[in-house]
Amino acid sequence: MSVETFTFQTEVGRLLDIVAHSLYSHKEIFLRELISNAADACDRLRYLALTEPALIEGDADFRVRLKVDREQNSLAVVDNGVGMNRQELIETIGTIARSGSQAFLAQLTGDARKDVSLIGQFGVGFYSAFMVADHVDVISRRAGEAQAWRWSSDGKGAFTIEPAERDGRGTTVILHLKSDAEEFLETARLRSIVKRYSDHIGVPIILDEAGQATATPLNDAKSLWLLPKREITDEQYKEFYHHVAHAFDDPWLILHNQVEGVVSYTNLLFVPSQGPFEVFDPERKPRVRLYVKRVFITDDCEGLLPPYLRFLRGVVDSEDLPLNISRETFQHDPRLAKIRSGLTKRVLDELERKAKDDPAGYETFWDAFGATLKEGIYEDHEHRDKLLSLARFRSTAAGGWVSLAEVTARMKPGQDAIYTLAGEDAGVLARSPQLEGFRAKGVEVLLLTDPIDEFWLPAVGTFDGKPFRSAAGADANLSQVAADGDETAAPEAPPASLDRLIVIFRDALKDDVKDVRTSQRLTESAVCLVCDKGDMDMYLERLLRQHRQLDAAQAAQRILEINPRHGLMRRLAELAEGEGAGSLTIIEDAARLLYDQARIVEGEGLKDPAAFARRMAAMLERGLIAPNVG
Ligand code: ADP
Repeated sequence: MSVETFTFQTEVGRLLDIVAHSLYSHKEIFLRELISNAADACDRLRYLALTEPALIEGDADFRVRLKVDREQNSLAVVDNGVGMNRQELIETIGTIARSGSQAFLAQLTGDARKDVSLIGQFGVGFYSAFMVADHVDVISRRAGEAQAWRWSSDGKGAFTIEPAERDGRGTTVILHLKSDAEEFLETARLRSIVKRYSDHIGVPIILDEAGQATATPLNDAKSLWLLPKREITDEQYKEFYHHVAHAFDDPWLILHNQVEGVVSYTNLLFVPSQGPFEVFDPERKPRVRLYVKRVFITDDCEGLLPPYLRFLRGVVDSEDLPLNISRETFQHDPRLAKIRSGLTKRVLDELERKAKDDPAGYETFWDAFGATLKEGIYEDHEHRDKLLSLARFRSTAAGGWVSLAEVTARMKPGQDAIYTLAGEDAGVLARSPQLEGFRAKGVEVLLLTDPIDEFWLPAVGTFDGKPFRSAAGADANLSQVAADGDETAAPEAPPASLDRLIVIFRDALKDDVKDVRTSQRLTESAVCLVCDKGDMDMYLERLLRQHRQLDAAQAAQRILEINPRHGLMRRLAELAEGEGAGSLTIIEDAARLLYDQARIVEGEGLKDPAAFARRMAAMLERGLIAPNVG
């Protein structure tokens, strides 16, 4: 067997480039990342050995060793964990397996501080080795297998794999240090880094200098979550969070509880301060690590937390769950359901408290995780009311976030619903023609920009007894609400000519719209599209089409509302009244143009852009050459 060469996945190449060139200010964190991986490997094997004790026979004490070799200028991180075989080396080191890697890379800014935290959140910690090493060797032997393998790379585009020797299972990561990284050969420096970043790691970390291992581990090696709160410093919590979350930001919220009851457990959970990448992860799995009696079981336990809390990081440890059942059966264990409901309640209560005590901080949280939390309104009936009260929205009344309680408190006399408008972008929505009448009457409208809103809104229906209603729906009704101020509206076109105009419009657009009606909601624009009662909202329809859940032929027809006070409409109504053959074509062209333009405002494409352009040119020409036609 000989040396095989592989090229890095493109994404890894880019990542390595950033790691090697821009992350300099944080160099020492490479050690935390490698120790973290080594400790995880020990945890994973400890779990496997529960059912297959032979895997750790003769070597049951897990540990991580830091081996300093001053002559070779190298530092090695050595563990006796689960190890990797050839295939695993190729698959896990050299590729980014996680979904969303493209999206992740798109977010990299080149700004070292931000990129460090992005990389951390994405969990590609191993590559940080190349911050301090110009060459890295990984020698690994999978527990239970006889053959060891060497992975070797200078981090510049390719790596090699070849058979190797290793006494026993585990992984050795050898860093051939760059000349400016020799500080990491100094024991004092290593001690202080381990103390700072890895003290709470549950596996002893031992320093090994020139073949001499120190007797006492560098770290405390106690499971942090089992210590009483008062013995834990903020710094320790923070570093533990960095370890379990593979994150670099600071936790925004820490929940550490020891719960005694039918099922006893300890939770140490964190809400990150920065937004996640899991949004791209279609699996919606929680990432909290489950331990049973301090033995790590899994970090993708589906039943542990509801999917809408998947932004949480941390640890749950229970004495009362069985150790020896498979991960799959765990999900259906009623004791796990108990833990889940206890955790959910605690997290939501704590969020409620934060929303009250620290509204500004809560808004930052909402920016990052609100869209995820809102999924719960749809899925979690038990906590629906609480989630609704935790939810924040953009609205026409304020620049920041508003709660439903605030919005209902501000409702106008005569306003019979909480009005909403859905679309991609709050800024664009705020300028929608459908909102003109709402603005004139000072009625607040929620601007909904998360796809999930389209799902929970119809499911929920009301808040505090008030129905939700779309401002773009035909049933929006502000007739009972008094106008703000007393500006006199422009006069409407005379009813008879208006009726005539509507008949021509209906005929010209009969294949495209359900109806043409005069509008009470428009004050400035000439026309807008609204959605008939019972029909699918325009934004939802667009979303479903984008996800190929709906084809264009199934799209519901809209209602075109026209503004009888608009100068253009008054003029067209005049033309309709006269109704020469020439003016009929003009009105029909205008109907089509106005309809197309209303679609554009909606963010919809044009069915026939060429025809639109032709009509537009013809109309402009007419206007310029014979402005007094008719
Ligand atoms: P992460 O740890 O966030 O998954 P890394 O890039 O640090 O990302 O590691 C990638 C993967 O490589 C790990 O998930 C693990 O499967 C494997 N790995 C890394 N270091 C070790 C080790 N010391 N022992 C066993 N497997 C390891």
